[in-house]
Amino acid sequence: MRAGRAEAWQLDSAALLRLSPQAESGGRPGTIWGRLPESKPLVERKRLIEERFPYVAVLPEPQAPDDPVLLADQPAYLTLRKEFLDRLDRERNLTLWRVALEGAIFLGAILLGLGYFYRKLNSEMDLKLRQRNFIAAVTHELKTPLASVSVWVETLFTRQLDDAQKARIQHLLDGDLLRLNDLVGNLLRVAQMDAGSMEFSPSPRELGPWLEEVCTWASHRYDAGSLGLRMNLAPNVWAEIDPKALAIVMENLLSNAYKYASPPRETVVTLDAVDDWAIIVVADRGQGISSRDIHKLFQRFFRAGDEMTRAIPGTGLGLFLCKEIVAAHHGYIRAASLGQGLGSTFTLRLPRLAR
Ligand code: ADP
Repeated sequence: MRAGRAEAWQLDSAALLRLSPQAESGGRPGTIWGRLPESKPLVERKRLIEERFPYVAVLPEPQAPDDPVLLADQPAYLTLRKEFLDRLDRERNLTLWRVALEGAIFLGAILLGLGYFYRKLNSEMDLKLRQRNFIAAVTHELKTPLASVSVWVETLFTRQLDDAQKARIQHLLDGDLLRLNDLVGNLLRVAQMDAGSMEFSPSPRELGPWLEEVCTWASHRYDAGSLGLRMNLAPNVWAEIDPKALAIVMENLLSNAYKYASPPRETVVTLDAVDDWAIIVVADRGQGISSRDIHKLFQRFFRAGDEMTRAIPGTGLGLFLCKEIVAAHHGYIRAASLGQGLGSTFTLRLPRLAR
């Protein structure tokens, strides 16, 4: 626009100064005489300029220090119209904003893509690591009880033992076989679940008596009283369950309450009804779970802590199985803990049957 204003000034001046060379007789040789043409009135010049350069105005006062002055008998300055300058400013600002916005969107999209890629990579690596740990854990879990069973069997057949020693060995053998049974059972059930061949046959049940039976039976797997089991079961709470499948959930939760707590243990199983839900809670006073791990507990193969703290036998399949079985009952399971050393609570919600 500034260039346009200069051009307007040039054109006007050129029109004004257009000389018509005329040779006059009698003049000195080499001299050219010129005559200024009739100058158009300022109003006319103003109209011509403003028609050709709509963003230039001819005003009696300069609006900017560099506004050129017109040759005229009254003061006249060429100036850029404010509304055009404002519009230009607005357009420039708008363009700047648009470019900034597009840049931000582009950058955001790149960051989002990178974030997604990073998370995907991280979860893939995490899964790979968990799978590796799982294979190590299963190998260990199979080898340890098998080695110990073979030692006990050899001892039974090759040594002279009294009744008390035999009873002690039988007790240890039972423990090892139980451990093997749990491991193989969980492996098979997860395989069935993956193959979609795990079948559920739900039927209406009163949960209190059923829970009492399952928990009492599960607690007998451990030394008398060592689970520190207490039950607080509300009567007349019904739900549609597959008792065998749900017993697997309770066994896993109680087995964890035993494994991840040191004696003297305190394990409390509670049954309640809240609104449309039957709520089963298994609480222990064991080692608890850190807030960093709590949301990962139900992932396949997940085991909290590092290799050093994973001295407790396990494969990271139990809670995954629990979650799947409870989901098949249209319920859900959550874990809570006040932190490491402060015990854990597992809450199971199942749709309640009105009776
Ligand atoms: P695992 O075979 O390792 O016990 P689970 O799937 O049953 O597998 O549990 C996954 C992880 O959750 C365990 O390795 C343990 O770190 C943590 N966990 C489960 N139950 C408890 C509990 N009652 N107290 C503390 N930690 C628990």
